[in-house]
Amino acid sequence: MSDNKNEMSEEEYLKKHLSDLEIGKNQFNSDIPLSNAEPIVEKTSDLHYFAFDTSELPCGKFYPVGTLLQVRSAQVREIQAYSMVDDNNFYDIVEKMNGMLQSCVRVKYPDGKLGSYLEVRDQDRLFLIFLIRELTFQQGNSLTVKTNCKACNSEVQLELKRSCFSYYDVDPKLDKFYNNHTCSFKFRLKNGKEFEVTPPNIGLQKSFTDYIVKENNDKKSPNLSFLKIIPFMLPGRTSITYDGIKSKLSEFEQMDDISFQFLNSAIGKMTFGIKELKTTCQCGEEVRTDMQFPNGASGIFVIHDAFEAYIKE
Ligand SMILES: [Zn+2]
Repeated sequence: MSDNKNEMSEEEYLKKHLSDLEIGKNQFNSDIPLSNAEPIVEKTSDLHYFAFDTSELPCGKFYPVGTLLQVRSAQVREIQAYSMVDDNNFYDIVEKMNGMLQSCVRVKYPDGKLGSYLEVRDQDRLFLIFLIRELTFQQGNSLTVKTNCKACNSEVQLELKRSCFSYYDVDPKLDKFYNNHTCSFKFRLKNGKEFEVTPPNIGLQKSFTDYIVKENNDKKSPNLSFLKIIPFMLPGRTSITYDGIKSKLSEFEQMDDISFQFLNSAIGKMTFGIKELKTTCQCGEEVRTDMQFPNGASGIFVIHDAFEAYIKE
């Protein structure tokens, strides 16, 4: 990416899309070992899929109850494609991760209907990438980050896997506005307006990414406030056309002040995903560190010291 102003805006937005990558802190995590994942009985090919309940995901509440994700390990051709990721380009990181999900993930709804990775919530992307990694490298190849325990000062290794992830806390004020049937929040405002809000899926994320790239090519600066808010306001959709986004933009620009202030604040509370890594030190204290990628985003599937590991001396 060059350093001109429009591209900075694009990158900012893409970073927002990749909010999972940002630093933070929290507690709870779900730790379902791989052995508890049920292998799928029916197989469409010789590839082995595992079923995971969506309740395990950071955005788990936004899938209908009983929805399963069918996930398989990455084959060498998928790792080859991923290995070319540009670690300094957020757009490329998102694209390559999406490519991995396209190959390895599908959605199975309680009514038996199958969906693709496009129906996966955008903020679940990183969690699923690490889930695929766990399935792919079951023999080891752990990715670790080192930090020092604040209590005893000994060096602690934290592994990048589900059992060490801690997630963003979601503001409990949102809970009572959650609707189980629509898997979205429904807000009624004092100004009489009503809004339905839900985290966007990857299909919508791709539509907005295409839009940003097009605007950028046309030397236009995207409206970042619009791009922050509107993807959350398209429940039930997995895509939107360029003209559709343009028309949403003109509605957005005419929005009343109270509605804008409310939505800006509500959507500001909707950060999900992996915030920190945590583990317990041998002294018994909990140790936390920021979520990060040792060896960059490529290092998730590319073995860093493969030369040393695999050369026969
Ligand atoms: Zn310690």
